Amino acid sequence: MNERNLVYRDFNPRQEALRETLCTLGNGFFATRGATPESKADDVHYPGVYAAGCFNRLETKLAGRIIENECMVNLPNWLDHSFRLPGGDWFNPLAVELLYYCQELDLRSASLKRSMRIRDAAGRHTRIEEQRMISMAQPHLAAYTVTIWAEDWEGVLEIRSGLDGNVRNSGVQRYRALNNQHLLPVSADSVDGQVLLLEVMTSQSRNHIAMAAALRFWQADKELLPQFQIEKTARSVSHHYELELGREQPLIMEKLVSLCSSRDRAISSPALAARTSAASGMRYAELERPHGILWHQLWQHFYFDIEHEDPEDDAESEQILDLHIFHLLQTYSPHVIDLDVGLPARGLHGEAYRGHIFWDELFVLPMFNLRMPAISRAHLLYRYRRLQQACSDARAAGYEGAMYPWQSGSNGREESQELHLNPKSGNWIADNSRLQRHIGAAVAFNICHYYQATKDEEFLSRYGAEMLLEIARFWASKATYNSARERYEILRVMGPDEYHDSYPDADLPGLNNNAYTNILAVWVLIQALAVKNNLPVRRFKEICEEIQLDREELELWEKISRRMYIPFHDDGIISQFEGYETLKEFDWDSYRDKYGDIQRLDRILEAEGDTANRYKASKQADVLMLFYLFSADELAELFERLDYPFGHDTIPRNIDYYLQRTSHGSTLSRVVHSWVLARGNRPESWQFFKQSLKGDVEDIQGGTTPEGIHAGAMAGTIDLMQRCFTGLETRDDVLWLNPRLPRGLLSLAFEIHYRKHEMRIYLTANAIRIAIEPAYEMPICVGVKSERYWMKAGETREFIL
Ligand code: BGC
Repeated sequence: MNERNLVYRDFNPRQEALRETLCTLGNGFFATRGATPESKADDVHYPGVYAAGCFNRLETKLAGRIIENECMVNLPNWLDHSFRLPGGDWFNPLAVELLYYCQELDLRSASLKRSMRIRDAAGRHTRIEEQRMISMAQPHLAAYTVTIWAEDWEGVLEIRSGLDGNVRNSGVQRYRALNNQHLLPVSADSVDGQVLLLEVMTSQSRNHIAMAAALRFWQADKELLPQFQIEKTARSVSHHYELELGREQPLIMEKLVSLCSSRDRAISSPALAARTSAASGMRYAELERPHGILWHQLWQHFYFDIEHEDPEDDAESEQILDLHIFHLLQTYSPHVIDLDVGLPARGLHGEAYRGHIFWDELFVLPMFNLRMPAISRAHLLYRYRRLQQACSDARAAGYEGAMYPWQSGSNGREESQELHLNPKSGNWIADNSRLQRHIGAAVAFNICHYYQATKDEEFLSRYGAEMLLEIARFWASKATYNSARERYEILRVMGPDEYHDSYPDADLPGLNNNAYTNILAVWVLIQALAVKNNLPVRRFKEICEEIQLDREELELWEKISRRMYIPFHDDGIISQFEGYETLKEFDWDSYRDKYGDIQRLDRILEAEGDTANRYKASKQADVLMLFYLFSADELAELFERLDYPFGHDTIPRNIDYYLQRTSHGSTLSRVVHSWVLARGNRPESWQFFKQSLKGDVEDIQGGTTPEGIHAGAMAGTIDLMQRCFTGLETRDDVLWLNPRLPRGLLSLAFEIHYRKHEMRIYLTANAIRIAIEPAYEMPICVGVKSERYWMKAGETREFIL
């Protein structure tokens, strides 16, 4: 990284897939991978275009079964563009001498640039400068511009530029055995002079997609109107030009693209909307200006200034944090506020996990809650619109309330795959991850935290309370009473750690009493019982009437929330699940010696004919998630309510225990470990933080980032700065700050949005300065260490620690 930009100074085919992900541009409505315009999907490149919420289902016969998968659809490639010199071949960076090559993702202007100076086989020198953007100001528009200089030759330059719908979802090797042709051709044509129009339809969801592109040329400020040949197939259309090029007489081409779909609002038809806006005659620079303004505004809301005693550490952390903010905003920009889309775990950057929405919002929404809460609200509304589906899924499984799916897509039904491929062994294995019922608790957690950060009463009253109550109702119906123990239990589920999905040698999948799930269920029940305190009496009554919730049910919730079973072993270690202590210790050293990278231990063991289920070895934080989500005080209260001991050494002992037994096979794991160590072991916490920062830029999982960013881990690194190192909590109507900066971190400055106030926070090891922007809003209560202070709009206050 250079300054705030991501810069690559060579063309490296082995790195290309990773760079395409990291150089993806998007605006929340759609995104495009940073593939070169001349590339097609092959072993090196994967041009991918994805629109938020555009899913399609396909069936495949696999291992004797018909399975159905819903995927975020790879849409036609709008970049599709190449050129050739007289008598030469179409441009291929590997077939020419690259005298200069520089690809730069510019985070401030949100554009991707490439500059090249090439010498071809005939010894001719040519310079090429190109740039692209996906407009943050006009979400349907994208643009590409290229300037070509013939340095020491002249002649006819051929240019081919089009819209290519010959695409499939083939970006993830592991999924290639599955059917992947999601698009049906509708029409491909050249219309209105210089405009190309391509229409396709998703085969099952019947999303009608129209893409239009206007191609224009200039030489020395004079617009050219060259003749062209139209080349088209059922799924693609392009223009083929022959242009006379003089020595050092630059030729400029601009391609303005519009993408519309039948999911859009305020249009009469996708084709008409797309071709009208593409033909608007707007130049690249005209589109660039408002795009730049919007990005500038976003950076004002999301900035972080950090000062570290090691300037290199300082620069590197700040740059990568910026890259993370950038990609999160490209996936989840203010445009999602008007869309019905969830947050895909791997962004709009690739096809891993098929664009599905998991519990990763638990790691992402806290960042938005305190920066741009309207984005969190939009995501929670995605969940609300799928509440009925979650309720009918619960009923079908024999429960009550809302059972949110582990993987969610278009309509909120369960989209987790039934089988997954272990690329190490080539085996298709049953995928039980849908048993991660804790996803519902993540939704509830986000509702409560969004409300604490915003006090958005209208949201709570219309949507949040109902979801929370239905989720609580699910937990109450999922819990069963064990009279021998005189405790409630939650049976046959999976915790966050995906290495354990059943007991060794058991016939049925699922584990009993996963501590994380049980404690979260209790927490949800408590929140649901308290929700009436935040609603007008009449409204609470109305909701209870609507969902037929009566006093008896509430009494049962109260009981369960006091008598849930939590397993322990080794005198104070919270067992990940009941029976965990009987599993074998795993021989970490010999597996590390044998395999080096053992992040995906589950695959290694399965390929050896063994299973991770037999060992005390976790993919990711599970019990430790409790210390990530709750403060020591909150946990002490929960344990007391449940009548279990919670000593001063419970947290450090459990951290130490599980730290030694985790392979960090999920990028989320390091975020959690950095968080839970932040108070007790600052150097180790900082190490985990640094590793989390490198998760995507260096693809530390060895091959997963080319398939998409890890949105949860990216947001987690930001949240570590925002809430963890600052000790920032929004609890009981107080904004608490209790900083413990990592050693070496001298200061931290950022802005938050709390209960309608814009606040600037500046922290050092010894002081906190809070400045609240002037506004006509109610005063807020700020807590520093354990003291509370009232602050009003326009006030600045400094607290010495
Ligand atoms: C992790 C899950 C996560 C998913 C999507 C998996 O590898 O184990 O916790 O939700 O990736 O990011």
